[in-house]
Amino acid sequence: MSLQSLEHRKQYLQEYYKNNKDKIAEYDKEYNKNNKNKIAEYDKEYYKNNKDKIATKKKKYYKNNKDKIAIKGKKYRKNNKDKIATKKKKYYKNNKDKIVTKKKKYYKNNKDKIAIKGKKYYKNNKDKIAIKTAEYRKNNKDKKVEYDKEYRKNNKDKMAEYRKNNKDKIAEYDKEYRKNNKDKYYQYNIKRLTKLGLPFKMNCTEYCYALLSWSKYVKELDNNMCKNCSSTEKLNSHHIMPKNLFPELSLDIDNGITLCLKCHYKVHGKT
Ligand SMILES: [Zn+2]
Ligand SMILES: [Zn+2]
Repeated sequence: MSLQSLEHRKQYLQEYYKNNKDKIAEYDKEYNKNNKNKIAEYDKEYYKNNKDKIATKKKKYYKNNKDKIAIKGKKYRKNNKDKIATKKKKYYKNNKDKIVTKKKKYYKNNKDKIAIKGKKYYKNNKDKIAIKTAEYRKNNKDKKVEYDKEYRKNNKDKMAEYRKNNKDKIAEYDKEYRKNNKDKYYQYNIKRLTKLGLPFKMNCTEYCYALLSWSKYVKELDNNMCKNCSSTEKLNSHHIMPKNLFPELSLDIDNGITLCLKCHYKVHGKT
């Protein structure tokens, strides 16, 4: 084919396209509809064979159309919130391990960077975070209880160690808690006393009085004197077998011993 006829052909095709736009578009549409799988297969093959070329082209396009793409993206995200959330959820569900591994790796390699960023974010968003945290806690109470339970179960040694090293702090916290939650603490005590009184078929008031007279009688039997150091100051009646484990022995006179407050604390490992 001569150059001239090639040029001629090109011109003819251009002319043809121009004059038959609608017809061609219609034909394309029909063809695409009827050959979906074939086209998809072809696209896939094409992508596979032209990865680098496509990546370069995409990069160039992104670079030259940043603002346009950003606006478009924002608009799309705004209009397709639910769709995106569903998609994300699905993706997360199907790629959990992959994502977790990736995140872990990223955290490990960017610890300092993340710490600085986190600190800065926290500083600038304190109020927002406080509100959000409170909101989350409120909506996930059951989850938190479950989580705490699981944590305590899995970290028994750690918790014991913490209790041992922070006795004063915990005692102070307990005192403050009882002070601020009088009703709750009262309810708790009633529940506990009721439970302890059950072996004697007593309600909590009856049991409380029985316990008081038990305590008085134990002290009388010990001549109102600490059995350990002979002090006569601040005397308590101590249950040799703890009453929460042996409620049926809690009013047994042989299960009581008189101790001063100091010695009593020692027995309970509080000092
Ligand atoms: Zn005691
Ligand atoms: Zn004593």
